[in-house]
Amino acid sequence: MKVHEYQGKEIFRQFGVVVPEGYPAFSIDEAVANYRKLPGDLAVVKAQIHAGGRGKGGGVKLAHNEKEVRDLARNMLGMQLVTHQTGPAGKQVQRLLVEAGVRIARELYAGIVLDRSTGEFVFMVSTEGGIEIEKVSQKTPDKIIKEWINPGLGLRGYQARKLAFALGLEGAQVKSAIKIFQSLWQVFYNKDCSLIEINPLVVTEDDQVIALDAKINFDDNGLFRHSEIKELRDITEEDPAEAEATKFSLNYIKLDGNVGCMVNGAGLAMATMDIIKLNGGEPANFLDVGGVANSKTVANGFRLILSDPNVKSVLINIFGGIVRCDRVAAGIIEALSEIDVKIPVIIRLEGTNAQEAARLLKESSLQFKVAKSLQDGAEQAVKAAAGGAK
Ligand code: GDP
Ligand code: MN
Repeated sequence: MKVHEYQGKEIFRQFGVVVPEGYPAFSIDEAVANYRKLPGDLAVVKAQIHAGGRGKGGGVKLAHNEKEVRDLARNMLGMQLVTHQTGPAGKQVQRLLVEAGVRIARELYAGIVLDRSTGEFVFMVSTEGGIEIEKVSQKTPDKIIKEWINPGLGLRGYQARKLAFALGLEGAQVKSAIKIFQSLWQVFYNKDCSLIEINPLVVTEDDQVIALDAKINFDDNGLFRHSEIKELRDITEEDPAEAEATKFSLNYIKLDGNVGCMVNGAGLAMATMDIIKLNGGEPANFLDVGGVANSKTVANGFRLILSDPNVKSVLINIFGGIVRCDRVAAGIIEALSEIDVKIPVIIRLEGTNAQEAARLLKESSLQFKVAKSLQDGAEQAVKAAAGGAK
């Protein structure tokens, strides 16, 4: 789950990560009222969307007086902000952050992610902050300095010092950076984050180290113990189909292809997408309906898949282990008799009572194609999506 910059900064504050004073605004008047609360004249008006690259796209602007804040807020609220992370359609700005302006001496980068290859967390810093860090890691990977964190031990003092010195910090800056790094690790660990990024982490003209941006992603599987984080969710920022799927506890991720997939089990869903690609097709989604493939989950899954206008065929691939195939088949028949499906549906059921399931499907009045094997199912689905079968 993602949160807005202003929400991330509020969490940073709670853990002692220094951030500029600032307040969220949902209207022009609120933006101006926030500006009045700030200590100095210089302020920054920042569009709040769940994507980076806002600076380049015109979503981060400096203001020097009330009128400028009002004009910026008027322009930004409601605008469709396009950045390299939003896609060409962009995202509509519904919230702003009005923040005290900072006099920047240097722009650095700091981040924490999980390194799956070592089973540890990796704390990364770079002197090349403020720009697209993806480009730095591609072109000059040696400019990203890493320290691996054993989750049981946490970020050690010597590691924080090493990172601070690698950034070329001096004197008071070192102490300030070490404190920030250790607080960041506390945020990451205590809030079950999957990613924290500060780009830029800045050194101010008076030698303070401050988080000027805040990107935090939370591990969805840890949210059950963080009701305070769940409350921060902004559903308008999420893909509507994916948000809908969460309501039904379905794992759905929209992709760009045209073969819809409904599968039980994440591993089988991955294998299904692979075999669609091996047959020259492109999956339209990942969908794991979980262990209970009854008529309700099947119906909800179907509505989700069909909400994507790109979908030209659907492959249902269910392995009946704990759940019996004949019950799944009955569920599919019941679900599809309620939904108007105009595209070919190919079904592959394997496992307990598979033959009984195949008989039920054949005898139903609905138009399914029953696949003999997973390969056969994938082939039929790809062909149907390409317009080869009616
Ligand atoms: P992003 O483009 O979405 O990552 O948004 P950021 O919060 O990183 O802001 C983009 C850029 O705006 C930063 O890299 C800074 O150069 C600039 N910026 C943001 N806040 C301030 C500020 O308080 N003072 C100054 N001078 N520049 C700022
Ligand atoms: Mn940034």
